[in-house]
Amino acid sequence: MNPRPRKLKVLRWLPDRWVLTRGVRRGRVLYLTFDDGPHPEHTPALLALLAKHRVRATFFLIGQQAERHPELVRQIVRDGHVLGNHSWTHPQFERLGLAEQRAEIERTDRFLQRFDGVARHDFRPPRGVMPRPMVLDCIRRGRRIAYWSYDSLDYSQRPTEALIDTARRYPPKAGEILLMHDDSVRSLELLQTMLPVWAADGFIFESLQPA
Ligand SMILES: [Zn+2]
Repeated sequence: MNPRPRKLKVLRWLPDRWVLTRGVRRGRVLYLTFDDGPHPEHTPALLALLAKHRVRATFFLIGQQAERHPELVRQIVRDGHVLGNHSWTHPQFERLGLAEQRAEIERTDRFLQRFDGVARHDFRPPRGVMPRPMVLDCIRRGRRIAYWSYDSLDYSQRPTEALIDTARRYPPKAGEILLMHDDSVRSLELLQTMLPVWAADGFIFESLQPA
């Protein structure tokens, strides 16, 4: 399975300030991103691994999960990672009207601001669904959408060995944004093997810097 999403062919033509599909820093930088947390069991283990390897990442949090586990949000920020907005309840955006979509995003922003002081976070649409009115609304309001260029497939049913095999067969390239999730043990297992491999390839790991 190819980790590069088909939608990228279209999205990469949009300006970075509208839809981010790659990081902006030069050099051998990879941008790890984790969606769907924070999770009381998996996020702390992941944070420990990232700290051990001196990796900075971006966490696209579900607002109501963040409200349940504020101590984890504090730790993510304290560890030097960047917070992103992954909506309040992770709904199916295609079933919501624009006002509801906006409410999902804005409520999450208000909550996350308490932790990092940032008024407007990058938005990662749940399941990558991007209804056109929502995209246009984000553009008009100056809210950047953060997509990804490399899908770790860590949410699929495939065993971790298969994920590692794919990661080795299709190595990420400098500047790529990697999609992962911290609501299961799979990203941790994948990274335990791949972080040393990528580091040996000369990669460093940075957070996505807010627009
Ligand atoms: Zn998600």
